[in-house]
Amino acid sequence: MQKNTQDVRQTIIDACLWMNSTGLNQGTSGNVSIRTDEGVLITPSSLPYEDMTPADVILLPGDGLSGEAIGPHRPSSEWRFHAAIYKERADIHSVVHSHSTYATAMSMLRRDIPSVHYMIGIFGGDSVRCADYAHYGSQALSDNALAALKDRTGCLLGTHGMIACGGDLKQALWRAGELEALCQQYHLACSIGEPHVLTGKQVEEVRERMETGYGVWPKA
Ligand SMILES: [Zn+2]
Repeated sequence: MQKNTQDVRQTIIDACLWMNSTGLNQGTSGNVSIRTDEGVLITPSSLPYEDMTPADVILLPGDGLSGEAIGPHRPSSEWRFHAAIYKERADIHSVVHSHSTYATAMSMLRRDIPSVHYMIGIFGGDSVRCADYAHYGSQALSDNALAALKDRTGCLLGTHGMIACGGDLKQALWRAGELEALCQQYHLACSIGEPHVLTGKQVEEVRERMETGYGVWPKA
C-alpha cells in the first residue's frame, strides 16, 4: 500500500492538472483519491488545482468514514463514496470522479452502457452501470455508486458524471479516459444508427483474453 508522502500527494495534484488539460474534467468539479497506510488522501473542496500544493491534499484517517479530515480545507464533497469504495473493495486503491462531457451526457439518459465495444471488458463485466440519481455528496449517492460498482471498476452516476477505479492512480486515470472515450463512441454510433451489442459469450472471451494473454491495462 502506498504511504502518505509528499510525492504521493503530488501525484494527486498532477492527476487533477492532467485531467483538466485533457478535457476529462472542468474546473474543480472532479476529485481524486488514493488509499494509503494512514488513510484516504483526497483532493480538497473547491480549490483550483493550479494553486494546490501537497499540503492542501486532505487526509481522511483510518477507513476515511469517521468524518474526520486532516488538512487546511474541507475534503471534496464526494469523500463519502471514495471512502466507501475502499472499505467495500480490497482490489481498489485509487478512485477518480469526473464530470467529463460524454460520460455526463450519458448519465443524463440514466442508462447503462452495453457492450458496444470490447473495451467494456476493462470495467469488469458486460456493461457499465448507471447509478440511480441522488444528491451530490449524500450518503444515498455513495450507496447507489457502490451498487453500480458491484463487480465493476467504473460506473456512471445518474445526472451527474462518472467514477473510475484502479489498483493504483495510473490505472484509475486510464479507466477514466477509456470510459469517456467509450461514451463518446457510443454517442456517435447512436446518432447514426443502432449499435450492435456483443453477446455475453463474446464479452467473456474478451475478458479471458485480457486476463490471460493480451492484457491491455497498465499493471497496478
Ligand atoms: Zn461530481
